[in-house]
Amino acid sequence: MKIYTSPHAPVPVRNESIYTNLAVTRFDDFAPEQPAFIDAASGYTISRAQWRTLSLQFAWGVRHELPRLGGARLERGDVAMVFSPNSIAWPVVLFGGLAAALRMTLANSAYTPRELAHQYTDSGARLVFAHPALVPAVLEMFRGLDVDHTAARQQIVVMDWPAPDPALKDYLSVHDLLGKGQLAQEEKFPGELANETALLCYSSGTTGKPKGVMTTHRNLTAQLAMVNVSYPSLNEPNPVMLGALPFYHIYGVVKLLHFPFTRGMPVVIMQKFDPVDACRWIEKYKVTQMLVVPPMCLLFTHHPAVGKYNMSTLRALMSGAAPLGAPLVKALHERLKRAGADVVIIQGYGLTETSPASHILPAADYIRKVGSIGPLLPNLEARLVIEDVQEAGPGEPGELWLRGPTIMKGYLNNEEATTNSITPDGWFKTGDVAIVDEEGYYAIVDRRKELIKYKGFQVPPAELESVLLQHPDIVDVGVVGVTDEAEATELPRAYVVHKTGLKADEVPIFASAVQEWIKPRVARHKYLRGGVVVIEAIPKSAAGKILRRQLRDRAKAEFESA
Ligand code: AMP
Repeated sequence: MKIYTSPHAPVPVRNESIYTNLAVTRFDDFAPEQPAFIDAASGYTISRAQWRTLSLQFAWGVRHELPRLGGARLERGDVAMVFSPNSIAWPVVLFGGLAAALRMTLANSAYTPRELAHQYTDSGARLVFAHPALVPAVLEMFRGLDVDHTAARQQIVVMDWPAPDPALKDYLSVHDLLGKGQLAQEEKFPGELANETALLCYSSGTTGKPKGVMTTHRNLTAQLAMVNVSYPSLNEPNPVMLGALPFYHIYGVVKLLHFPFTRGMPVVIMQKFDPVDACRWIEKYKVTQMLVVPPMCLLFTHHPAVGKYNMSTLRALMSGAAPLGAPLVKALHERLKRAGADVVIIQGYGLTETSPASHILPAADYIRKVGSIGPLLPNLEARLVIEDVQEAGPGEPGELWLRGPTIMKGYLNNEEATTNSITPDGWFKTGDVAIVDEEGYYAIVDRRKELIKYKGFQVPPAELESVLLQHPDIVDVGVVGVTDEAEATELPRAYVVHKTGLKADEVPIFASAVQEWIKPRVARHKYLRGGVVVIEAIPKSAAGKILRRQLRDRAKAEFESA
C-alpha cells in the first residue's frame, strides 16, 4: 500500500471545543479591541472582545431566557438550525450556540421549504435561527410538517440583530437573548468530549441525497492548527478579509469566521456576493485578502467595477470549492495588475467531510504550480486508489483517499453511508480523482462520484431525479453535470423519458416546460441550467444503476456541438 504523507511537520491538536480554542486558547494572540467583524453595508463593527461577550450572553440567553419566553428548552447536544444569508448576527448566533454546547446545523439560505424540511427533520433540529426575510419560508416549512402556527412560532428566533425588525416583533428575537445574563464560561469539551459533534452541514457525499456531516470540535481545532501553517502569511501590516462566501457552507463558516482569532484579520461581511459591491468594499475597507470560488474569479476578469475602484490593497485571493484552471489564474492576475493590484492567486481543495481543507497551494508556488491544489496539509495521509482495491502507479490518476484528524465522524444517523465512505482503518474516500507529482503536489483531474457543483454549491443528482419523477409525464430520469467553460462552472442537465413519447416538434416545448416546472421546487443553484433532453431510455447497468459516465460523455458531446 502506497501511503503519501504531508511535507509539513505534524502540528499538535488540542482536545477542546472550537469555542474554547478561539475565545480562550488563541484569544490573547491579538488585541481584544481589534475589530473582528464589520458589516460591509452599514459599517457596524464588533471587536474581538465584544464578540466574546456577546456570544457568552447569547449562550446564556439560549439556556435561560429562551425557555422562560416559551421557546425550546435546549440541552447540551441539542440541534439548532441557522437559516440566514451572511450577516453580522452570524458570528454571535453560531458561536453563542456552540458555547452553549448546541450542535449547529447550517442551511443554505436559498432553500425552498421542502429542502429546509429535509434538513430540519433529518438533523433533529428543535429551533431555527432565521434571517427576518426568511421567516415566511420557515413558517411554510412548519406548515408542511403539520406543526401548528403557535408551536411553529416558538421554534423560530429571528436574527434581526443589531437593528430590530418591527414587523416581526411578535416573534422571539436575538435581542431577547442578549444582555440578560452571561455564561461565566462556555461549555467544555476536554479529552474524548472533543469528539462530540459541533456542526452539521449537509452534503450528498458520493451518492444519494444530502446527509448531515458530523464535524466534531476536534475536527475544527485540528483544521485551524493545520491551516495555520499552510495558509499564506503575507505579512500585511493591516490585513483585512472580505467575507463574500456564504457562512452556511463549510468553506465559509470554517475559514471566514476564524480569521479574526487565528490571524487577527477582521472579516468584512457581505450579505451576498456582487461584483460591484465587492470592489466597492475592497476600496472602502482596504481589503487585503478574499476567499473566492472560480466563477467569482471569472467575473473579476471582465467586470468594469475592477477598473473603477481602488484595488491596490488586495494581496491574495484563495479559491476553493471547484477547479481553478491555469488560464483563469493568468487572466485574473493580469486584469488585477492592470487595476494596480499585484495579487497572489492560490487554490485550496477539500470537502465538507474533511472540515474542509486538505490541500492548499503555497503562495510562493502559485505561478510555478498553477492549476495544482498544493501538497497535503500537516497531519494528513493520502492514497490514490483505483476501483477501491488497487493503488495507482506513480503519476497515475486514482481516487483520493484521506486519513487524519479532520475527517468527519460520519454521516448523522446513516451507518450505511458512513461505512461506504470511511474504511475500517479510517480512510475517507473523497470521490475525486487526483494525481500527485514527484514533488508531492496534487491536482484534481476528475470526479468519480455523481455530485454536480454549480458555482461551488452542491447539486445532488439523486435529489433532482426524485423531484423530477414527481412530474406527471416523466417516467424515468438521469441528471448529470456538464461543464460550461464560459461560466467556469458545471450545469445540471436532465435526461428524461416521457410517459407516452413525444412528436419531434413537442420536444423543445416539453423540455423548457420541465425547466420551468422545477423552479418553485428547488433552490436556484439546482435549476436545470444545462438543459433538459428527452430520450427513449436512461442507460442503466444490469443492476439498474444509472450509467452516469455514459450520460456525462453524451452531455459533454451535445454541449460542445451546440
Ligand atoms: P463541498 O463538500 O460542497 O465542499 O464539495 C466538495 C467537492 O468540491 C469535492 O469533492 C470536489 O469534487 C469539489 N472541489 C472542492 N475544491 C476543489 C478544487 N480545488 N478543485 C476541484 N474540485 C474541488
